[in-house]
Amino acid sequence: MAKNPLEQYFNGEFPEQYQEPPGLQKEMSPLPDCGETSYKGSGKLTGKKALVTGGDSGIGRAAAIAYAREGADVAINYLPVEQPDAEEVKELIEKEGRKAVLIPGDLRSEEFCQEMVEEANSELGGLDILALVAGKQQAVEDIMDLSTEQIKATFETNVFSLYWTVKAAMPHLSAGASIITTTSVEAFNPSPMLLDYAATKGTIMNFTKAFAKQAASKGIRVNSVAPGPIWTPLQISGGQPTANIPNFGQGTPPTPLQRAGQPVELSDVYVFLASDSASYVTGQIYSVTGGMPTA
Ligand code: NAD
Ligand code: MG
Repeated sequence: MAKNPLEQYFNGEFPEQYQEPPGLQKEMSPLPDCGETSYKGSGKLTGKKALVTGGDSGIGRAAAIAYAREGADVAINYLPVEQPDAEEVKELIEKEGRKAVLIPGDLRSEEFCQEMVEEANSELGGLDILALVAGKQQAVEDIMDLSTEQIKATFETNVFSLYWTVKAAMPHLSAGASIITTTSVEAFNPSPMLLDYAATKGTIMNFTKAFAKQAASKGIRVNSVAPGPIWTPLQISGGQPTANIPNFGQGTPPTPLQRAGQPVELSDVYVFLASDSASYVTGQIYSVTGGMPTA
């Protein structure tokens, strides 16, 4: 029987909550659904090797779990303080009989981005999938309160790390490899309180389209996923003003599907773009936004 998308996942009021960024998924209420109990694989990525940044929690965790269930070995990157979330993901990957590699570290360092790629490549014995999901979002209502420090940190995390990681990975990628970046509905319809973040997401979209053209002749596909409001640690650790948390996904502007999304609702798109089924797909933006327009 068909399920009603309005009611398929949590659609009530979220309890107001705040954690220091980057936040721990373990401590959220309700817990985000990253497919831990529900995602079922069917061999779509058998034998592939994936590196997922931000793989400890939220959308990156959903991608990491799905990749393992589809038969891939998976390395995940995250910040050292997120070790407790990362350990849970490691356990879930290993439960599938796949190899899990934990690579904590700060993507704002070019040197670390290079080390991360080298470690993933050597530990996994190659690289086929680069899912770049890590991101920083801090809402600031007035530009006068937006510090240079924050602007730099947001661009370093969301944009610079992309160039550094992709540059480090290219020598290891061969025809058939897939790079997936993570933009946002914010690239299309930016919020007034996300002046730095929304600009990075516009940049990521543009980078993706341009780099897809450059990488195509090598047989490497490059696409991006544009999520709408998704229930993750990013949002309860300053991504939204805390007062907006109870109605997250239902507030202003309203989401046509009237609720926040769960990370697992992104899993299939990250899997498709990584898989050989997406053989004729590059330079594209796939939106999962609860109906918020992205054109
Ligand atoms: P999340 O908090 O679960 O994931 C973000 C991850 O980024 C963190 O787990 C952390 O490991 C990583 N990160 C942040 N700064 C880092 C740094 N300096 N070095 C290394 N890693 C760092 O939240 P999420 O919502 O799943 O975010 C994943 C991606 O989805 C982000 O790019 C975000 O911009 C994007 N996105 C999220 C939403 C949403 O509503 N949640 C909407 C659109 C786009
Ligand atoms: Mg996290």
